[in-house]
Amino acid sequence: MPYAYDDQNIFARILRGEIPNDTVLETTHSLAFNDIAPQAPVHVLVIPKGPYVCYDHFVLEASEAEIVDFHRAIGQVCQLTGVQPGEGGDGFRVISNAGQNGVQEVPHLHMHILGGRNLGRMLR
Ligand code: IMP
Repeated sequence: MPYAYDDQNIFARILRGEIPNDTVLETTHSLAFNDIAPQAPVHVLVIPKGPYVCYDHFVLEASEAEIVDFHRAIGQVCQLTGVQPGEGGDGFRVISNAGQNGVQEVPHLHMHILGGRNLGRMLR
């Protein structure tokens, strides 16, 4: 089934410069900015610049350059925010919600990078 991308979603509007954002990092194919309602001392969202609804859409249809850039951007944000374990930081969690069961609010792929506090156990 094809993925239907809604270009009026808030992250599409951020990418078009229609809404301001608190940028942490911009790369060729990705943008990272602070979440407007942070759930932890570090809460950064990393999004691809391309029109991808969710993670599976992205990894199935994006170019290799976009996929590499996006994942490298996640690593760079971990370094920039100082959350990487073993390098002075105390670790982090990466989450991407998808669709209804994943309770995804904004239909443009985003990875949440959370850190700066103990996030508790999520899976058993
Ligand atoms: P989701 O539930 O995984 O789709 O998460 C959407 C996230 O986007 C939430 O954590 C919101 O706080 C965040 N968010 C919504 N609008 C904005 C914005 O304009 N700037 C930054 N973050 C936003």
